[in-house]
Amino acid sequence: MVVVMDIGADEAQIESVIATLNDHGFDVHRSSGSQRTVLGAVGVKPEFDKRHIELLDGVYTVHRVSEPYKFASRSWKKEPTESKVGNVVIGGKEIAVMAGPCSVESEEQIHASAEAVARAGAKILRGGAFKPRSSPYSFQGLGEEGLVMMREAADAHGLAVVTELMDPSHADLMAKYADMVQIGARNMQNFPLLRAAGQLGLPVLLKRGLSATIQEWLMSAEYILAENNPDVVLCERGIRTFETMTRNTLDLSAVPVVKARSHLPVVVDPSHGTGIRNKVLPMARAGVAAGADGLMIEVHPDPDAALSDGPQSLHIPQFDELMAQIRLIAEAIGRSVG
Ligand code: PEP
Ligand code: MN
Repeated sequence: MVVVMDIGADEAQIESVIATLNDHGFDVHRSSGSQRTVLGAVGVKPEFDKRHIELLDGVYTVHRVSEPYKFASRSWKKEPTESKVGNVVIGGKEIAVMAGPCSVESEEQIHASAEAVARAGAKILRGGAFKPRSSPYSFQGLGEEGLVMMREAADAHGLAVVTELMDPSHADLMAKYADMVQIGARNMQNFPLLRAAGQLGLPVLLKRGLSATIQEWLMSAEYILAENNPDVVLCERGIRTFETMTRNTLDLSAVPVVKARSHLPVVVDPSHGTGIRNKVLPMARAGVAAGADGLMIEVHPDPDAALSDGPQSLHIPQFDELMAQIRLIAEAIGRSVG
């Protein structure tokens, strides 16, 4: 941590800041220029709140140098993490595609979806049985019945299952039916839920919160990793900005930024990221080009009849086209699509 003192800071103020830093367990290296004194504080603990120093008299600014997260950081683990979801690896050379409807709606719908996405080369079936809807009057999901249907459909087509965990009390249901649990954007900072997901023993797909910074997202990953669950996959699904022409703004620059700071795999969700069917294909291409380890795509056999997110769900032939195109992009950057 670096503490820059005010231009006019006097010796008593400097001594007092040094004493406070020492009290907090830091070793302090002092360097005085012609105008300012700068204090280098060594031994910062991840949980240290720099405001303890910012509020002292004579302090101009305080910068943290080390990251507040540990297990999520590249400095703690150099090699990229590869997470196994069923038989599928996320974070290796192959790009993993998770696809399916927003919600599980019926046996016919989930079977038709599973059949289509498996045929096109997806390896993981997505679909929500417990849905985090913005309105309490919208379809909330089929619950356990939906999980049963999804598991059957996935098994019939050799797919793994990812589905959203909304409530810690559903942990047993997830363990029974899912291969990976998703933490939705609206729950990214639901800390009891993150801990429950960490304890579940299944890989976790952690979506970025609607207004979350990358650091906040990595801190949420840290909650899961701190429960001794090493299998966290981050999912960029768009953030809220001033732009209104898309549902969210898909922050693809997050992919290389996260990869530089963390060893965790990153997946891109252009469906929620744009919210409009005809924007999904170009942004899926861009996600792969940006270095994503996987894609999450909403696909529905009859999007116009979907009970949630129909306008952003691809028709099956559009998904076939997406898979064909991302194979070309993957090849161009030395990767492949499973
Ligand atoms: C979803 O995947 O259907 C979903 C609700 O996503 P998000 O949490 O990113 O909005
Ligand atoms: Mn959705």
